[in-house]
Amino acid sequence: MRPSRALIDLDALRHNIRLLNSIAKNARCAAVIKADAYGHGAVEIARALKAEAPKLAVACYDEAVSLREAGITTPLLVLEGFYSSEELADSTRWRDIEWVVHDMEQLDMLSEVAPLRKTGPGSARMQTWIKLNTGMNRLGLPLNKLAGVAEMLGQFPGLSVIGLMTHFACADELDSLLQQEQWRAFQAGMQAAGSGGWSYSSANSAALLQYPETHLDWVRPGIAMYGASPMADKTGADFGLKPVMTFESRLIATRELQAGDSIGYGAAWTANGPTRMGVVAVGYGDGYPRQMQNGAPVAVCGKRTKIIGRVSMDMLTVDISHIPEARIGSEVELWGGAVSADEVAGYASTISYTLFTGMTSRVPRVYLNRSEGG
Ligand SMILES: *Cc1c(COP(=O)(O)O)cnc(C)c1O
Repeated sequence: MRPSRALIDLDALRHNIRLLNSIAKNARCAAVIKADAYGHGAVEIARALKAEAPKLAVACYDEAVSLREAGITTPLLVLEGFYSSEELADSTRWRDIEWVVHDMEQLDMLSEVAPLRKTGPGSARMQTWIKLNTGMNRLGLPLNKLAGVAEMLGQFPGLSVIGLMTHFACADELDSLLQQEQWRAFQAGMQAAGSGGWSYSSANSAALLQYPETHLDWVRPGIAMYGASPMADKTGADFGLKPVMTFESRLIATRELQAGDSIGYGAAWTANGPTRMGVVAVGYGDGYPRQMQNGAPVAVCGKRTKIIGRVSMDMLTVDISHIPEARIGSEVELWGGAVSADEVAGYASTISYTLFTGMTSRVPRVYLNRSEGG
């Protein structure tokens, strides 16, 4: 059996969300499990968070349906909202799907769904958040549309507006001017919303960790929950977070190289002295980025060493000159507790988010500590 696999430690996940909950104080967590829980497996993660997160956030309705079909009953916030009236109509068969309204055209879609216009039997009971654009300029309504949209939404008996939200573009930076502007704009939005009993939500992981004033009623942590850092100059461990995913494999060959011997495609690395190298059964076909530079950290037999040569589809090569005990079958960690995904990501000019979501279906996910203390 191919030895590459991703160990997913659900105790680490629970540790992280508890830590984030304690940082967020009175705010509650809408745990973000979009994109298959950042590659960790959305259904398993949702189950593990059952007692920890009162709400889960997904990107789209398809993701919500997969969770409901797997028996997950936690309220689900659909961050990109509904794409069509068909989707909306279909969603009336589920409970506790919370939609995001972020564009005027969505109001037309709403009016096409008959059960939303009815009262009494056969009516829908749907909940929506209104998303305000405060400067990220991706999704969201401008402030001057807020009152009008709230009023229009109020005309659907089957629908209630439960909150106002926004999303920050630069919360991973300290002293970001845009962050300040966005926060001011959202405060204006909350003021305009008045005392309608709405909930407020603005913070992703970065804002949760760096901007406490943005915590409000609901925080929306994603990456931090998986133990990685949203900030480029920090790792998850700097905040006391534990890596949830360990991407591991084994050596399938070793070789002694002499000065002048090169390795792999493009002969991209050449030994300048006697070198012992190992071949690992992981490549870009598993989601280990091909752009990874020579020198990227990796652990063999628990010892840190580095990638040498180009990453190919099914294999990559590592320097084991100083790890004499390494042989065929020796354990290799690509990222996890010994080498953080945050650190590895830097060597591919990317962020941990893409390492996690880029892991392909060839890599089996193996879940540890499925039930609390069990
Ligand atoms: C993905 C996402 C989050 C979570 O972001 P992290 O940086 O992973 O914490 C929060 N809110 C919205 C709207 C998102 O799209």
